[in-house]
Amino acid sequence: MTLAVHVDIEPTRRLLILEDRPTGDASYAPLPTGVDIVHARIVKTSEIGAGDLILAVADAMWKRIDYFPDAYPAEAPDPFVPHACDCYECEYASTVYKAGDAVVITRGFPWDECDVWGRDVLALIVRAEYLPDAA
Ligand SMILES: [Zn+2]
Repeated sequence: MTLAVHVDIEPTRRLLILEDRPTGDASYAPLPTGVDIVHARIVKTSEIGAGDLILAVADAMWKRIDYFPDAYPAEAPDPFVPHACDCYECEYASTVYKAGDAVVITRGFPWDECDVWGRDVLALIVRAEYLPDAA
């Protein structure tokens, strides 16, 4: 099934093709037990909160969602500060982004490097409050 979802996030209106998360593909782990995809929503990465589960990110052309093989929780997203960390991702991001133009989503997981995204990149997430371990 394929849905076309209009995402009205300034400064532009974009058509975003939202396909179902792949199933029956061994490279895509099942969502954690108790996570219901109906709670998924699209937000800017700058709006991701601590503990939100990240399912996918919009690709560079902004027209379709690319699911991550493993959904992963955001740590405590912070505005990116160039050269504040010497990992490869942060050093690369320092050549692309000015302070505040990007967000550090995680540090050291699920990869060894930080997870840095432009602040206006769109992500498909499930808010922490809808996750089964939420109090
Ligand atoms: Zn880093």
